[in-house]
Amino acid sequence: MPKRYLDLNTYFRERFGHRVHKLTVDAGMTCPNRDGTLSTTGCAYCNAQGSGTGAFARGLSIREQLEQSKIHVARRFKARKFMAYFQSFSNTYAPIETLARRYDEALSVEDVIGLAIGTRPDCAENAVLDLLASYARRYLVWVESGLQSACDQTLHRINRGHDVACFSDALKRTRQRGLPVCAHVILGLPGETRRDMLTTANFLADLAIDGVKLHLLYIIRGTPLETLYRQGRFHCLDQQEYADLVCDFIERLPPQTVIQRVTGDPHPKELVAPDWALRKRETFDWIQRIFEQRDSRQGQRYSPPHG
Ligand code: SF4
Repeated sequence: MPKRYLDLNTYFRERFGHRVHKLTVDAGMTCPNRDGTLSTTGCAYCNAQGSGTGAFARGLSIREQLEQSKIHVARRFKARKFMAYFQSFSNTYAPIETLARRYDEALSVEDVIGLAIGTRPDCAENAVLDLLASYARRYLVWVESGLQSACDQTLHRINRGHDVACFSDALKRTRQRGLPVCAHVILGLPGETRRDMLTTANFLADLAIDGVKLHLLYIIRGTPLETLYRQGRFHCLDQQEYADLVCDFIERLPPQTVIQRVTGDPHPKELVAPDWALRKRETFDWIQRIFEQRDSRQGQRYSPPHG
């Protein structure tokens, strides 16, 4: 059944005419919200691994990580071309020479046709953006910027260490260099109402954001959020509620925004709650079913900003 939104596979096929797969890279980075620059505790939902695999610390080079994943992914998904997705921590937060070496290494791997660089909006110095723009002449380069919510109170509550204005500024400077930006958003953050979450959708729609990744808020071990949860001070969304919100969100986005993700991907050993976070297929099915029941799709409630 055709998807009711522009997903990443469709985007890649439309652009390249074939399947492209993103391969996760751990480049041994850190983050100002972890290394003491802003805090040492990090965002409320993040543990000391910073969503990383720890591969770099185990001695696996970027090339080795990519070569290993390529074999697995080529067999499973029949993908022939790949994007190197720098996922762990903040991948624009290091001396520029180090960054250039890491990006070059990824792009030197056969069949890697681009970079997706996960980072924080307060780690978007012009010199780094210029470096990324220099690769974009030959490769596809996306910047993945963590917004999480367009509500400053929420960002403060979860200890993000930046505000919404910081995201807007980084977005503007990144796009001035011709680089597309994918905003990361989390649904179900502490204290957020449905209205707050849809405010984030409208905020991104007004910016005609290039891409969005939607994550559900799940609780992993060793995070400040786990403590709140165990004290009964925070509840997770249920699966249908989440799927409803995803549809509400996507309906408000412009039709050309690439929806790169509609749920999260917790490590089973780290997950505390909700248990349905591991049943991704079910969540996809819920989302599809709700769109069909509503007979709606991406852009259904989008209206371009005036002026
Ligand atoms: S910015 Fe990312 S890596 Fe840093 S603390 Fe927050 S979630 Fe963790």
